[in-house]
Amino acid sequence: MEPRHAYVHVPFCRHRCGYCDFSLVAGRDDLIDRYFTALAVELHRVREPLDLDTLYLGGGTPSHLGPGGLERLFGLLHASLRPVAGAEISIECNPEDVSEPLVAALHACGVTRASLGAQSLDAVTLRALDRSHAPDDVRRAVALLGDRGLAVNIDLMTAAPGQSITAVERDLDAVIAIGPQHVSVYCLTWEKGTAFEGLRRTGSLAAADEGDERAMFEAAIDRLEAAGYEHYEVSNFARPGHRCRHNEAYWDCRPWEAFGPGAARFDGRTRITNHRSTVTWMNRVLSGDDFTGDTDAMDDDAAARERLVVGLRRRAGVDRIAFRAASGLDLDALAGPAVRRWVGQGLASDDGQTIRLTRTGLLVSDGLWGDILDP
Ligand code: SF4
Repeated sequence: MEPRHAYVHVPFCRHRCGYCDFSLVAGRDDLIDRYFTALAVELHRVREPLDLDTLYLGGGTPSHLGPGGLERLFGLLHASLRPVAGAEISIECNPEDVSEPLVAALHACGVTRASLGAQSLDAVTLRALDRSHAPDDVRRAVALLGDRGLAVNIDLMTAAPGQSITAVERDLDAVIAIGPQHVSVYCLTWEKGTAFEGLRRTGSLAAADEGDERAMFEAAIDRLEAAGYEHYEVSNFARPGHRCRHNEAYWDCRPWEAFGPGAARFDGRTRITNHRSTVTWMNRVLSGDDFTGDTDAMDDDAAARERLVVGLRRRAGVDRIAFRAASGLDLDALAGPAVRRWVGQGLASDDGQTIRLTRTGLLVSDGLWGDILDP
């Protein structure tokens, strides 16, 4: 089956935020031309143009390319990636990049949805997160994008250094007042090799208390649901009709294409990830060498286990009949003991047809997946 979804990684940022371990280069705009050249070469992997239902430009910071750079990028993509009428075309933007000319360029390129890396609407939290924008940049960006009819997602982070539960509640109220169509809420993770993790090891920064982290997540669920957002996946909330269709394709384990450094593509069974170093990816693409990094080829059993995990991250849960139809395997034969244990512990519900995580289960979900992936 030809993929109807594609991801393009744009690996440029003004500076690297202290918590970020994404595949990117900061302060290296001198590499942008070479990136475009390499991307054009990688796009030749696609022999016939792909008809797409969703296209997602992530990073890095795609908006860092500016209006001219984005027009050049879309011009390049068009030869291989063709969003159909009504397709969802998403782009990640930093709030400080969003200007009238940028939004006009997004509109002209057919972008339908912007995901803003806001993280907070509190100046103190933004400084603690090493972000370079101000709360008003977020408000201004949402207004400009809305004026052009783009749907907006706001990324919000919790458990930032020094952040209290009250500060998270204030952030949630501020986001609700702005009224984006979609909100994603993530807890800060302390990734190996980041500046934050180094500071944590020396005692200069401290991670939030686990109980506080859970209270922050519960505050997000309570406030966003009360404001009319549907909590449809562990970290994601949407106004009716505004779920992220691109992410839903991932969670359905549909095949997708992906281009750029660190980008991972999936054919329904095998996941191939490009080399995550921007410079190595460019050099290898341009010299005709193998530019892939990891290849993860799953057998039936592993693919079904992964399908079950991504399915359980969704609030709708996993339907036994649909699961068997999609994976060819029986859910109970695969994960019956784990599911029964979770139900006994109040972490999941099971009505005989559908298994769903309970709220308690959602709060500890990251700790549950090992029961299925590595029983
Ligand atoms: S702007 Fe986003 S992608 Fe860039 S360094 Fe900061 S967190 Fe990472």
